[in-house]
Amino acid sequence: MNRYLLLTPGPLTTSEKVRQQMLEDRCTWDDEYKQLTQAIRRELLAIAEVDEEDYTTVLMQGSGSFVVESVLTSTIRPTDKVLIITNGAYGERLAQMAQRIGLSYVQYATPYDEYPEMQKVEDYLIKDASITHIAIVHCETTTGILNPIDKVSALATRYGKTFIVDAMSSFGGVPIAVGELGIDFLISSANKCIQGVPGFGFVLAKKTALQKCEGVARSLSLDLYDQWKVMDVDGKWRYTSPTHVVAAFLQAIEELKEEGGVQARFQRYTENNQILRDRLAKVGFKGYIDGDKQSPIITAFLYPNEQFQFNHFYEEMKAQGFVLYPGKLTEVNTFRIGNIGEIYKEDIEKLCTLIENYMAVTVK
Ligand SMILES: *Cc1c(COP(=O)(O)O)cnc(C)c1O
Repeated sequence: MNRYLLLTPGPLTTSEKVRQQMLEDRCTWDDEYKQLTQAIRRELLAIAEVDEEDYTTVLMQGSGSFVVESVLTSTIRPTDKVLIITNGAYGERLAQMAQRIGLSYVQYATPYDEYPEMQKVEDYLIKDASITHIAIVHCETTTGILNPIDKVSALATRYGKTFIVDAMSSFGGVPIAVGELGIDFLISSANKCIQGVPGFGFVLAKKTALQKCEGVARSLSLDLYDQWKVMDVDGKWRYTSPTHVVAAFLQAIEELKEEGGVQARFQRYTENNQILRDRLAKVGFKGYIDGDKQSPIITAFLYPNEQFQFNHFYEEMKAQGFVLYPGKLTEVNTFRIGNIGEIYKEDIEKLCTLIENYMAVTVK
């Protein structure tokens, strides 16, 4: 049914069974449907290996950004201040949201191919005692860099700051010790590593942190606390929920479990990413991010030479069944290839062969 494979950072290639779930219309008031929501909420806690005593899951309508904005508007008070650590477009979006909401914030930005320096993060915390929250993106999908959230979490814990992680493109595909790291709010969405379809996102929230957020939100529809209070009763969403997407998502969770859980999925992504980067390097494609900082989620490749035309390359690959992704950097020319979704080794091998052939022909 699919005409091509999406090698993109989401929406991504999903399984046929996931898509089949969307053929049925479901009633949002019905108990059976509400049970789907409750099952998803429980399963997400299990995937994160956190306890129901300590954490809860809130599902929220919209694309991933809506859910990030929901967390920022619902958890940070006018008297609070958030340190936003950025090295990519999604980190910058956090700052943009903070500005729109009118939050008090400071941004610590590093170049897109570098990690934040922990000494500098600590300096911010020491010099500015009014900082109450720290926010960072885990896998910066702009480049594929995987940020060291464990180190940031250690500082958040030591200095007693609320810790917000945009794990949109990593949760479910990269192991994250949510409880051990003491993450207060972790955000992800249906159409990334859990391999569902787009339509809602979710927040894994430390209960003690979320409990303090009543009345904080400046938005009604994005109020995370209110959404939690309504959903927690029996699985009913406030306002219309994306029923088809919800049903598909539960199926996607089942398939994550069948695959062997997060660790097994991480291994598949990592293997495929390694094959891709190794074989492409041999025909002139250098990764933008150093190997030790690179996530298995998505890779940004530099254009191999002056003659390379991404649009032509893109159309050629699409004609052979693979949809790639343009770059998102301003200083250098890059394009991206994602490894997440229903993509297996033979798919990546086939793509590599196509790219090798493409280079052999166009270089001459
Ligand atoms: C996909 C993604 C988002 C959300 O993007 P939407 O287009 O709103 O779904 C946010 N942060 C990161 C790191 C992402 O990869």
